[in-house]
Amino acid sequence: LTPVPSDLEISRAQVAKPVDQLATEIGLLPEELESYGRNKAKVRLSLLDRLHSQPDGKYVLVAGITPTPLGEGKSTVTVGLVQALSAHLKLNSFACLRQPSQGPTFGVKGGAAGGGYAQVIPMEEFNLHLTGDIHAITAANNLVAAAIDARILHEATQSDKALFKRLVPSVNGVRKFSPIQISRLRVSLNTAVPESLATATAGLSWVVDTNDRFLRKITIGQASTEKGQIRETGFDIAVASEIMAILALADSLEDMKNRLARMVVGTSHSGLPVTAEDLGVSGALAVLMKDAIKPTLMQTLEGTPVFVHAGPFANIAHGNSSVLADKLALKLVGRDGFVVTEAGFGADIGMEKFFNIKCRASGLRPNVVVLVATVRALKMHGGGPHVSAGSPLPREYIDENLSLVAGGCQSNLKKQIQIAQQFGVPVVVALNVFKTDTQAEIDLVCQIARECGAFDALPCNHWAQGGRGSVALAQAVKQAASKPSNFQFLYHSEMPIVEKIRTIAQRVYGADDIDLSLEAQTKIDYYNQQGYGSLPICMAKTHLSLSHMPDKKGAPTGFVLPIRDVRASVGAGFIYPLVGTMSTMPGLPTRPCFYDIDLDPATEEITGLF
Ligand code: ADP
Repeated sequence: LTPVPSDLEISRAQVAKPVDQLATEIGLLPEELESYGRNKAKVRLSLLDRLHSQPDGKYVLVAGITPTPLGEGKSTVTVGLVQALSAHLKLNSFACLRQPSQGPTFGVKGGAAGGGYAQVIPMEEFNLHLTGDIHAITAANNLVAAAIDARILHEATQSDKALFKRLVPSVNGVRKFSPIQISRLRVSLNTAVPESLATATAGLSWVVDTNDRFLRKITIGQASTEKGQIRETGFDIAVASEIMAILALADSLEDMKNRLARMVVGTSHSGLPVTAEDLGVSGALAVLMKDAIKPTLMQTLEGTPVFVHAGPFANIAHGNSSVLADKLALKLVGRDGFVVTEAGFGADIGMEKFFNIKCRASGLRPNVVVLVATVRALKMHGGGPHVSAGSPLPREYIDENLSLVAGGCQSNLKKQIQIAQQFGVPVVVALNVFKTDTQAEIDLVCQIARECGAFDALPCNHWAQGGRGSVALAQAVKQAASKPSNFQFLYHSEMPIVEKIRTIAQRVYGADDIDLSLEAQTKIDYYNQQGYGSLPICMAKTHLSLSHMPDKKGAPTGFVLPIRDVRASVGAGFIYPLVGTMSTMPGLPTRPCFYDIDLDPATEEITGLF
């Protein structure tokens, strides 16, 4: 329709086929499905065993140029591309998407089901509770937080002997604890000082899936029953929990259980890491997470299959949906099929982490990168005025302006293409067309993208037209995927931590060098001592610039990247250097999205989601 109706109106106008029908169409057996109502179902991991010998399909990553704060349509392109591949080119295809946090849904950005005629439906279910995975993560994370609090109280108020007896129960007169666990326990028992649980790691915060900046720093233990064990702690948004990153990177239930056990939740007074296993909580965490590990099956507007699974923060974590969803989907589509997944933020962040962290963990190798660009983001990189969410776009973004577009292509687009090429994967540029884009602007972007080394560059119109608006893109992706992939990591795991950070800073961001703070260097030495030196790196950097300075657009050069601090997510399996200050608990604006969200009790219809 013209004009294109709202995302919610489009979503509601299409009746989703029953999920068990979709499951049958894609070759699932009834016993492999756990339905959650009519429109969504979890898929059992036993499917991986059944399809073990089936060859994998082609693996496509959707990444983007450095975005404006408005988002350039990566989720929308992901959905539009699978609609084109499946419904129009008749190729088995799957989209694997992240589950959005409810923070932005009620805050500023809105949902993440795609947009226009390229969406996952029903978008209300996608954007809200879905099948409860984020709630499970919240429960698991907060159980660890409670375990720490309880332990601190009991260590402070009981003798070592009394604690030992209670913590190591005897079974038929024998206390079953391995020597390692006993030594950890003693170390931990010596930890009478609460602050010691948060020195060399980030420590573990409580989490909730609501934006509330007042929870960033809180004081707990103020009731007299806590015997003076008052301390400062804080809340993160639930998707920033390490448990979310673990869910995204685990490749089996057993692997998830081991990662949960390895999670370092603090540091003892004598400097040893305290893990979830040391606190005796890892079995309970696995129990809380046992259903969350199964991906949720949904569908696009054109009835093609989608897995929604995991949604780790893209700054302090790696920002990609789950390894398991990709593995299942690659088996389901078979040799000639396509799995399209998305990496958060620009290619310098989301794609780099997809390759160096997710692909390293999964063993999967990508065939094609689709790099999403928009005329508006290119104009911003070419020198256009500041763009911000909630304010009208300046004139330069509405009228034709070929020199701004060319400037953006020659700087940011060119650099992001080069970054993808360093990994040996062909790049197809997808220009996500907005109604203000002119034909001359569109042609210019595609021409320069090809000159800069893209395998191909195509405008796509799935937002306005659905899958048929992206058939040319789908054909180019199919062609690119038929080329042999020369995928390679940017660095070896065994490279020293500092060298890994420097490699990313120089070869991806274009920095001259890095500047490590004393604190960062001390932590790196500590992580090396603890045997974490071979973990990959997950840079926590602004997504609004290739550099650490959000207002430096294009492709900045001549800068030194400051590394303020370095932290470790040992369970998830990465080290994360902090470049600048990262907020892990967003706030709400003066007029948040929830002002417009409402329910009609007569029809149960929701309004105001987007
Ligand atoms: P990203 O994944 O890059 O953050 P999204 O795909 O979520 O971006 O899109 C951000 C918003 O922009 C969504 O509300 C979507 O409906 C809208 N959008 C995306 N592409 C277009 C387009 N071509 N025209 C108009 N709006 C669009």
